[in-house]
Amino acid sequence: MTDRIHLSKADITEVEEEYVLRALRSGWVAPLGPDVDAFEAEIAARVGVKHALALSSGTAALHLALIHLGARSGTVVVLPTMTFAATANAVVYTGAEPVFVDSRPDDGNVDPNLFIDAVDQLQHEGRRVAAVMTVDLFGRACDYDAIEPALAERGIPLIEDAAEALGATYQGRAAGSFGQAAALSFNGNKIMTTSGGGMLLSDDQALIAHARKLSTQAREPFPWYEHTTVGYNYRLSNILAALGRGQLSRLDEMIGRRQAIRNRYVDGLADLPVRFLGGESVRGQSQDNCWLTTVLVEEAEDNLTQIMRAAAKDGIELRHLWKPMHLQPVFGSARSFIKGTAEHLFANGLTLPSGAGLLDEEIDRVIKHVRQSLTGAGR
Ligand SMILES: *Cc1c(COP(=O)(O)O)cnc(C)c1O
Repeated sequence: MTDRIHLSKADITEVEEEYVLRALRSGWVAPLGPDVDAFEAEIAARVGVKHALALSSGTAALHLALIHLGARSGTVVVLPTMTFAATANAVVYTGAEPVFVDSRPDDGNVDPNLFIDAVDQLQHEGRRVAAVMTVDLFGRACDYDAIEPALAERGIPLIEDAAEALGATYQGRAAGSFGQAAALSFNGNKIMTTSGGGMLLSDDQALIAHARKLSTQAREPFPWYEHTTVGYNYRLSNILAALGRGQLSRLDEMIGRRQAIRNRYVDGLADLPVRFLGGESVRGQSQDNCWLTTVLVEEAEDNLTQIMRAAAKDGIELRHLWKPMHLQPVFGSARSFIKGTAEHLFANGLTLPSGAGLLDEEIDRVIKHVRQSLTGAGR
């Protein structure tokens, strides 16, 4: 039996081993240290923002940004329904109420018009909209030209959940540089990893300073442990920051590989009744970090599960897209602005193995398998 082909396996080389070993030998094992400072500076420079705060997860970054911008009980936060639960969970941690908005059909990102309509409707009802969150889905930035000016006009802060999108750009601007603050994730399956970790990015020094304080149990600058508010234990350890610096030194290489993988899928599946999420411009290119390649198998509804099961038997991990938040039992009673697009994407969407460490032969095995299941042999 050949090796299992995972969806998005971490790609770790001797480069990362050296970084981690150096950190271990330096004695900086206790949480903070020089690799944390350097990692923050390197990511800030890469994305083009003034300040960065290394944290234990992307979820923590979202949580702290929301707190700073005033999300709390009695307020609402508007966000896409097509996302990973972390985006919505962070809202609930603050006591605010999440309100979900549907996707656009071409790339699954939030529908900008519906997004702004939702904000207007909520404000019309007298609700306090503390913030709006965008999610750059599967490594592709949202339509910020349509979103940013409309929010600025209404004076509503934007938080960019760029957890999946490090290395992507939109009109020449880097993902992670939009809004008042942005969150990155370095979880194990993301475009680069610290095994677990995240980063909060902002040009606003006060925002980062506040988040920094909250992330270290809200310690006050006293010679003893003094606390005037409740804080969190959210910092990233120095050892993991060293791993992140190693990964960052290889980020462009890893993105290039994911783009090549995307192109191999586009070529290999071109004649089949599938549509690549991202539409016309789906080919590996500078805008899209190609974190995950996803296809829509039109009218697949009944056999999507069957296709995935057959793939699993062949040692290939295919997955559904994110199940929309408004369909999740935990958020079932949440307010939402839905037209049916995200539900359609969920019912028909398959995520293909996209990890930078995958070999061409492995991609070809996936292509062959998908071809077989869609052209009758597997049906
Ligand atoms: C992975 C992810 C997160 C959470 O990041 P963690 O580091 O796992 O906490 C948040 N939002 C989105 C869209 C993600 O994909």
